[in-house]
Amino acid sequence: MDGMDFQARQKKLHVALERHKVDTLIVSHPPNVRYLSGFTGSAGILLAGRRPLFFTDGRYAEQARAQVKGARVVIAKGGLLAAAAEACAKQEAQRVAIESEHFTVAQLAVFEKALGKGRRVARLAGVVEELRTIKDAAEIELVRNAVELSSGLFRPLLRAMQPGTSEINVAAKLEYAARRAGAEGMSFETIVASGERSALPHGVASRALLPESGFVVLDYGVVLDGYCSDMTRTVHLGKADADERGLYAAVLEAQLAAISAVRPGATAGEVDGEARKVLKRARLHRYFTHSTGHGVGLEIHEQPRLAAGVDTVLEPGMVITIEPGVYLPGRCGIRIEDMLLVTETGYEVLTAVGKELIELY
Ligand code: ZN
Ligand code: ZN
Repeated sequence: MDGMDFQARQKKLHVALERHKVDTLIVSHPPNVRYLSGFTGSAGILLAGRRPLFFTDGRYAEQARAQVKGARVVIAKGGLLAAAAEACAKQEAQRVAIESEHFTVAQLAVFEKALGKGRRVARLAGVVEELRTIKDAAEIELVRNAVELSSGLFRPLLRAMQPGTSEINVAAKLEYAARRAGAEGMSFETIVASGERSALPHGVASRALLPESGFVVLDYGVVLDGYCSDMTRTVHLGKADADERGLYAAVLEAQLAAISAVRPGATAGEVDGEARKVLKRARLHRYFTHSTGHGVGLEIHEQPRLAAGVDTVLEPGMVITIEPGVYLPGRCGIRIEDMLLVTETGYEVLTAVGKELIELY
């Protein structure tokens, strides 16, 4: 990809690996492979060591030669893992590690066998993911594009939200519009949760029909150039009553309070706490049953997690969501979610969609 400095990323990885006393990491998780080498296919393994090698099979030969930067491309005749293990032995790698969260037990067996007896494989977790929490300039640009595309889908979708239409139909119209606008796909299963179903924090679009009156939670995102977006808006079909307005106002106030707390040096837990404080004052905190947000990038859920007690310190270049919600079982739910960039001085809200309560007639 243009403008991506894969060598700089690999250099950062080596510094991190030194800290773990590892000289070679077998990178197998596709988003991590993509982050370090530019390869967007599904079958590829990066041997990040003194002499970086990229292993793929014949199907991806052409693609790998066009995309992979910062590593020599090897088309493995047998399995990729066996080829990578043999290369480790040839490079006399002393301390080889795998990504323990992304390696199956079966893969480890194949890899260890090919590496040879007596050689221990270290298990590392989250090393590349940690690098990915701070987005570089090229990534921020791509995140912005993905967020802009999804923001533009919201207003036109309101026309599709008619009482009697199914949640799946609303999702279908959204997803069709996303594709038409150039999205590679959705970043997760679209949530359209209407009426009582809005009380399900993860109510993926079902065959349920939109009611004459009630909330509809819309939570969706797109993938563009590999980068994800994520946003939620809750609209009301028909006129909201005083209770419903009060609930909406409380969630919005909580979301704005958490956003205001975003700055370099603040901890993820502090930001989460600001949302919870507002909902506690409104006596709604026990209905706020999930965390306040998460990182977003090549994957929809990345570090940092913005939840109670998380002491991760926010840094410029992090891309996060702020998405408090309240869910009254059997009644209704409301969530409002934006994506933010942590800047040198505070934050920038990337999602460009208003948050006033929309009532649809
Ligand atoms: Zn979301
Ligand atoms: Zn989210």
